[in-house]
Amino acid sequence: MIRLADRLRGGYIPCMSLPRAWPVVFGLCLVAATASPAARAAPRRATCATTALRDLPDFARGTTGIGDRPASDDGTDAFLDDDTLPLRVHHLAGGEADATLVLNELRRAWALQVDGAGFAPPPADDSGFDAGFDNNGGSPALDVYLAPLPAGVGAVTVSGRDVDGDPAHDRRPSFIVLDPAQSDDVLAAAAHHEFQHVLQFAIDARESVMWFEATAVAFEVRGRPDVTSWQDALPAFQQQPQAPITADGFQFAPFATDDDLRLEYGAGLFALYLDDVHGTGDGTFLHTLWQEAAGLVVDGDVDVTTNTPDWLTALAARADVPALLMDFATWRALTPPLAVSDDGPAAYDLPAGTGLRGQRVLLERLSGTLRTTVPSEGPFVGGCQVTSASAPTAGPATTPVFVHAESVDGHALGATIVAVRDGLATTSDASVGPVVDVSADVDAGAELLILVCDVSITDADADPVFAPVRLSLGTTPYVGEGEGEGEGEGEGEGEEVIDCGCGCDQSSSSSSSSSSTGPAAGDPRGMRKSLYAVGFFVGVFGFAVKAWRHRRRQRLYQKKP
Ligand SMILES: [Zn+2]
Repeated sequence: MIRLADRLRGGYIPCMSLPRAWPVVFGLCLVAATASPAARAAPRRATCATTALRDLPDFARGTTGIGDRPASDDGTDAFLDDDTLPLRVHHLAGGEADATLVLNELRRAWALQVDGAGFAPPPADDSGFDAGFDNNGGSPALDVYLAPLPAGVGAVTVSGRDVDGDPAHDRRPSFIVLDPAQSDDVLAAAAHHEFQHVLQFAIDARESVMWFEATAVAFEVRGRPDVTSWQDALPAFQQQPQAPITADGFQFAPFATDDDLRLEYGAGLFALYLDDVHGTGDGTFLHTLWQEAAGLVVDGDVDVTTNTPDWLTALAARADVPALLMDFATWRALTPPLAVSDDGPAAYDLPAGTGLRGQRVLLERLSGTLRTTVPSEGPFVGGCQVTSASAPTAGPATTPVFVHAESVDGHALGATIVAVRDGLATTSDASVGPVVDVSADVDAGAELLILVCDVSITDADADPVFAPVRLSLGTTPYVGEGEGEGEGEGEGEGEEVIDCGCGCDQSSSSSSSSSSTGPAAGDPRGMRKSLYAVGFFVGVFGFAVKAWRHRRRQRLYQKKP
C-alpha cells in the first residue's frame, strides 16, 4: 500500500491489469494533477503505461486523460504518412523532426517485428466493426500521436474493442501515444516497444502483464540495441530472484524486498533469454509463443478452450520448463559482478547493479544444519532462493560445497552452484526433484551463487505463492539431521547479519528478513515511509479490488466440463 503511494508520488505509474487497474485511475489522476512543468520537461522515468491502462472501463479511461485519442478541436493536426506502410504519425506536440524520427523507427520496427519475427501487421481501426474509438485518426493506418502525457508516463498503447467476440482470444486494434518530451533515443526505443504492444493486442489482449511488457522490452532491445534505458528496470528484477518469473510488480509488491518493483519490465531479460537461447535471436520464437498461446496456431497440447494467459502453457509444449527455468536462473546469474564473456547475457554488456541478489554467507563457516527458508528469501513458486559467497583465497585450492534442499510442499525443485573465477564460469550439475542434492569443489577466490528454485510453476497468471524449502548448505555431504534453531528469524534493517540457524553469517545489504508469510504488516521498511492520504486510500482500495478480481477471475477462467 505504502509503496504504491510512494511510487505515485515519484511520478512512476506501476503496471496493472483489469480490475487491478482501478487504483491507477486514482493514481493517474493524481499524477496528472501534480505534474509540474519541470517534470514534464524531464520525466524522472519515462514508463510505458500500456498494461496499466489495459481494459479499464470506458468511463474510467476518461478520468485518466490518456485513454482518448489526442486531437486538436479544429481537426487540423499535422501528420506524416508513410509512403507504403499503413503508418500515420500525428504531431500535436513536438515538431516534424520528432514525427520523422518516430516514423523512421516505426518502419524499422515493422521490418523487425512483422517482416522479421512474423507478427501480423497492425489491424486497421475501421474495418466494419465498432472498435470503440471516437474516430479512426483519418485513415485505416496505425495512428501514432506525439502528445503530452502525465509526468512519469512516456508512452502508452490504447487498445479498442475485441474485433470478433471469439472466446479463445481477444484481438483489438489500438493506437499509440508518445510524449516527445524525452530524449531522441528513449523516444525511438519507445516506438519499438509500443509497436510491439500494438501487435500483441492484435493477437490476444488477455495475456499476462509480465508477458506483455517482457516481450515489448525484448523488441525494444532488438530495435534499438544502442539504447540502454531498458536496463534501468533490471536491478528491480535481479533484486527479486525469489519472485515467480511470471509475476508483475503489483502482484509481488506485498512480498517484495525492494521498493522499485518494475519486475515485468526487468523480465525483458527472460524474453531475451528465450529468444537468444531457445530461438534464433530475431523474435520469431517470441512470436510463436504469442500465437500458440492465443490458439491461432495449435501445436501440441496448447489449451485454447478458455482464454487465460497461456504463454507458459505454450512454452511447456515446446520445452522442458523446469530445466529451462534452471538454465535461465544460471544465465541470469552471470551478470555483474559474475559476468563472463562467453555465457549469460554477455551480449548486452550489462552494467553494475544488475547482479542477482543473494543471501550472503561465509563459505568456510557453513555447517550443513537444516533450516527452513523464509518468504523474504523465497523461493516462491517459479522463483529461486539464492545464496552468495566467496571462496577463501587462503588455504586449500578448492572448497567443497554441498547443497541439500527439500520442498516443504513436495514441489519440484532445481538446484545448482554457479562459480566464477578469472572470467570463467563453472556450473555444477543441476538436480531437479522434490529433494535435490548438488555439490561442487569451488576454486579458491571464486565468487559463487547457490540457486535453489521452485520449478513447479505451470500457470502464467498465478498469484505468488511462497514455497519454503528445508535447506542445508555445508562443506561436507548432508547426512540428515533435525531442524536447526533460530529458523528464519531476522530482524533489524539495512546492512544486517541474519542468524540463519545454520552456523553461518548471512549479510544482506539490500534486504531484511521476516518470519511472517504475510504481506509485511508493520514492516519496518514500510514504517520508514511517510503516509499521505491519497496514496494510502489508493493502496487500500487496490488490495480490496485485488481480492475481488481474484474471485472474478476464478469464475471467468473456470473450465467448462
Ligand atoms: Zn509496455
